[in-house]
Amino acid sequence: MSLYDGQSDAYDAARDLAATDDSRRIMLDRHLRARGISDERLLAVMADLPRERFVPPQLAASAYADSALPIDHGQTISQPYIVALMTEQLHPRPDHRVLEIGTGSGYQAAVLARLCAHVFTIERIAELSDAAAARLRDLGLNNVTYRVGDGTMGWPEEAAFDGIIVTAGAPHVPAALTQQLALGGRLVVPVGGDAEQSLRVLQRRPGRIIEDRSVPCRFVRLIGADGWST
Ligand code: SAH
Repeated sequence: MSLYDGQSDAYDAARDLAATDDSRRIMLDRHLRARGISDERLLAVMADLPRERFVPPQLAASAYADSALPIDHGQTISQPYIVALMTEQLHPRPDHRVLEIGTGSGYQAAVLARLCAHVFTIERIAELSDAAAARLRDLGLNNVTYRVGDGTMGWPEEAAFDGIIVTAGAPHVPAALTQQLALGGRLVVPVGGDAEQSLRVLQRRPGRIIEDRSVPCRFVRLIGADGWST
């Protein structure tokens, strides 16, 4: 059974609850700004996007909490701070074409769609991709292209990208993704074991790739030809 099945009344009630309390403001002030997120365009988008629409209805009241939450198929929607941090590290601009690996609920894709010209997003589980696409269309976000498949190979037909974000934990940086970066483009990817990964930010410069590491984080596995095998 889907976590999203059932009562649209419960959905509406929970949505009202989340909207009427000040959970969004707490998310912005305590979970994002206080930890150093300062990109005002990004903060405005996260203040405006109805995150409760991306989580199962029975969790809508927790939609703005400082944690990841379960979605269907054993996957998760990331903690707001991690979404904000990864987005900030991508340096998104209104003229950018960006690629996301791991559509999941579609929340990260929606944030990027509001900040960039176009988002290409790949998800290996068809039901998640379809549900995310319907959700984003409902929100009037039409600058997103969806693909069902293995994102570890990137999207060669649409490369090069100004930014690539991987929202699942990889055992190493997938080579195809680095190759599909435009000059100046950034790749943000969590790399490490199951228990913990560290966020890596790679940037293509003329003739070389530079790399930084930032915070520890915990994502579900990136499963694919150049990721985990199961
Ligand atoms: N960005 C999502 C969070 C995704 S959780 C959000 O905002 O909700 C990670 C997702 O990556 C899961 O849905 C999982 O199915 C997907 N995934 C794992 N390996 C993948 C791969 N190789 N290609 C595409 N998607 C993958």
